[in-house]
Amino acid sequence: MKVLVADTINKKGIEILEENVEVVVDTDITPEKLLKTINEYDGIIVRSRTKVKKEVIENATNLKIIARAGVGVDNIDVDAATEKGIMVVNSPESTSITVAEHTIGLMLSLARKISIADKSVKEDKWEKSRFMGVELKKKTLGVIGMGRIGSQVVSRCKAFEMDVIVYDPYLPEDVARDMGVELTDLDTVLKQADFITIHVPLTPETEHLISTEEFEIMKENSFIVNCARGGIIDEDALYDALKNNKIGGCGLDVYEEEPPKKGYRLFELDNVVLTPHIAASTNEAQRDAAIIVAEEIIKLSKNDNPHNVLNMPRIDNYSKYAPYIELCKKLGSFVSQAVNGKIDELEVIYGGEVAKLPNYELLTRSVIQGAINPYLKNEITQINATIVAKERGITITEGVRKDAKGYDSLIKVTATSQDERFSAEGSNLHGAKILKVNNYWVDVKPEGHMFIAKYDDVPGSIGKIGTILGENNINIGIMQVGRELDIGQAIMILTLDTVVPKKVMDEIKQLDNIYSAVRLDL
Ligand code: NAD
Repeated sequence: MKVLVADTINKKGIEILEENVEVVVDTDITPEKLLKTINEYDGIIVRSRTKVKKEVIENATNLKIIARAGVGVDNIDVDAATEKGIMVVNSPESTSITVAEHTIGLMLSLARKISIADKSVKEDKWEKSRFMGVELKKKTLGVIGMGRIGSQVVSRCKAFEMDVIVYDPYLPEDVARDMGVELTDLDTVLKQADFITIHVPLTPETEHLISTEEFEIMKENSFIVNCARGGIIDEDALYDALKNNKIGGCGLDVYEEEPPKKGYRLFELDNVVLTPHIAASTNEAQRDAAIIVAEEIIKLSKNDNPHNVLNMPRIDNYSKYAPYIELCKKLGSFVSQAVNGKIDELEVIYGGEVAKLPNYELLTRSVIQGAINPYLKNEITQINATIVAKERGITITEGVRKDAKGYDSLIKVTATSQDERFSAEGSNLHGAKILKVNNYWVDVKPEGHMFIAKYDDVPGSIGKIGTILGENNINIGIMQVGRELDIGQAIMILTLDTVVPKKVMDEIKQLDNIYSAVRLDL
């Protein structure tokens, strides 16, 4: 795997990469050079300088992963990457502690008036009585948004002996209980908290989440801190609340407009502490971001699943899915090559232990990948599998069943075309195994050159096929036959040493009693 480091990242990340993959560091790369050379790379790491635009992605014939050492991906065309099957990863957890510490820094600065006291001392003043503060101990902390950063703030504020209440309608009760916090509604947080801290994303729902009405019900002398995103607090309402002493003070790292315009109204107030969007700026966060993305790339190079994939659903406990991924690809490939006609529908039924996994999306994407790739020039990946299936008019359905017919797990994939339905069921038994094809129980390793024929279950049918293959110097490695006595039909599945040429296939199809014959490449 060859990886381009296109922006400056911490050297620890580069060291880790160099131990595992080929690395090219070109942190001055121009957009023109990037466009020209991107096809040489399997991975690229950027921060915010390098723009990975649609035209770069279009030229990226080998690229498998775009890694952002940091959080925001505004410089990456994620949609274009998804369409092309390229994974986009970032490192959101790299900044959580750094932002949490900055949040607490702003809280302490407000509680002890540190920034204005600092200014006063530097002006040669000694105004001890002006800067009477409050302790954090036994005060109520109201947290809005209890994700990665909110939870780090909480665990640190507990050390200050603060009481914590949380508003996060998307956090399940049991998770909150495990974190040792009490979930409540927004009004209760606003009415009861002495310190409020915001850690939600900016969404239509959170835009101006805190405005005039909310400031009205907040405690007098309470403090509010926003290290999340500008626009969550309505800054006009904030100015009024601060100016009229409705609240005690405010700490901001983020603004509705960044940087704020000259003459920004909050500059004139004493009860605000402002920082220039630096909550995530520490050496440790930069180092962690570099290490996290380097590890994500190494995981991909080892066919493992990166963790922070932005353009695919998140999979926890990847190791539980891993044994089925190859099986799903093989089943998809097997049925799509075996079915007559263009596939209109792919149905995947998960049975037994595999059906107990919380989410099958990764496995179903692997089925689609296996089913479509035999017909494409450029390989599709798990990232764009569902998009490509949709473009090709293939309906995907998923189901589960408890029973695995005596096996630990059994996955059934059925391809439906206008002409027929063709199914294969398989399990992972020290590697992918196909155990049933349509109604026939078999035991086949889906690999290499294969051949399937359906024929009348009468003496001589098998021999005739074997003779033609032998006459054409095609050696049969493994042969499996299955039969359905009630309809008098049988199926033959062969693993061959060489591919069956088209003219030989045509000869076999001419035989009496043969319904269909297909060759497969797995
Ligand atoms: P996260 O996704 O881990 O957590 C967000 C939490 O907000 C989740 O628990 C979610 O359930 C909750 N949430 C979503 N909508 C909500 C709503 N309407 N009301 C209440 N809760 C809601 O995110 P994170 O990594 O903790 O980041 C939090 C914020 O911090 C984000 O806005 C992020 O952009 C920002 N951030 C800022 C900086 C900075 O430099 N200042 C750096 C990193 C992150």
